[in-house]
Amino acid sequence: MSRADRLAARLPERGVDALLVAAPANVRWLTGFGGSNALAIVGPGLRRFITDFRYVERAAGEVEDFDVERGERELAAALARGWPGGPLRLGFEDDHLSVRRHARLREILPADVELVPAGGTVEAVRAVKDATEVEAIRAAAALADEAYRRLAEAGLTGRTEREVAAWIELELRRLGAEAVAFAPIVASAERGAQPHAEPQDVAIPADTLVTLDVGARLDGYCSDCTRTWATGEPQEELREAYDVCLGAQRAALAALRPGMTGKAADAVARDAIAAAGLGEFFGHSLGHGVGLEVHEDPRLSSGNDAPLEAGHVATVEPGIYLPALGGVRIEDLVVLTESGAEVLGSLSTDFTVVA
Ligand code: ZN
Ligand code: ZN
Repeated sequence: MSRADRLAARLPERGVDALLVAAPANVRWLTGFGGSNALAIVGPGLRRFITDFRYVERAAGEVEDFDVERGERELAAALARGWPGGPLRLGFEDDHLSVRRHARLREILPADVELVPAGGTVEAVRAVKDATEVEAIRAAAALADEAYRRLAEAGLTGRTEREVAAWIELELRRLGAEAVAFAPIVASAERGAQPHAEPQDVAIPADTLVTLDVGARLDGYCSDCTRTWATGEPQEELREAYDVCLGAQRAALAALRPGMTGKAADAVARDAIAAAGLGEFFGHSLGHGVGLEVHEDPRLSSGNDAPLEAGHVATVEPGIYLPALGGVRIEDLVVLTESGAEVLGSLSTDFTVVA
């Protein structure tokens, strides 16, 4: 079944006849088109793909299963025509479309085409990865693992956080990544207490923890991996926090399986950290889906009551952040199998000293 067919099969449950797809990651997943300006429409007998002059050639090579049209400068102008006729409920991505573009669409569309909010429809389908996608993510994860191994040899102490972050970016490129999935995080000592610290122009000290969060992009797919390494003998509280965080991460990895809700997965790690008296220092959710985007469905969080499915790819990343002292986060990427979760990566999570 093509991706467009899988998506079309889900439209009735969203109460729409057709879906207008414009978010670049959704367009890429649906059509194979990797450029930045295109619209796709999926519906009864409708497989339309509209792009502009700059991308027509590229689309001819990338897009299958769709009728490729060259649109005007304003792609949406093509939506004035090409509908089957009669009343039609057209879903749109209300989580991506601006208010201004929505108003413009309403002007362009025929009067009997009704615009219906249907955000998240493509995201829910593409959260379940096929084998090719899992292999692309596994390959991206392998690049980041290799960059980590080279970093362990190169060392940390005395280098600035910013220089290490730049070094990681360059190393990922040298290893074959098409880009970084996100700007690397390098947070040493008390800066590790900020989950999303920006690398600073300060030297990494000895005898503390350094949180490193690194992702590569390969064939459009992202990876995401955090390790927290010691530059010697860290303070006792940080050493203990590491063991608690690792225990929570391993418990969550062992418990994860299809049918479990995102909320229940999150609770496994949260309960383990709370049991050690550190619950207040784990302020974010356990994990997020990863694919064409580095943050996508499914969410492993207290707000997600939906069951996880085989083929979901998500991070498992508990963290403990001790204000003014430092922090620990340990993050692996997993694919849910029929019976559990397989880690996509091969980097040890044991307490590691990198001087
Ligand atoms: Zn991460
Ligand atoms: Zn993450």
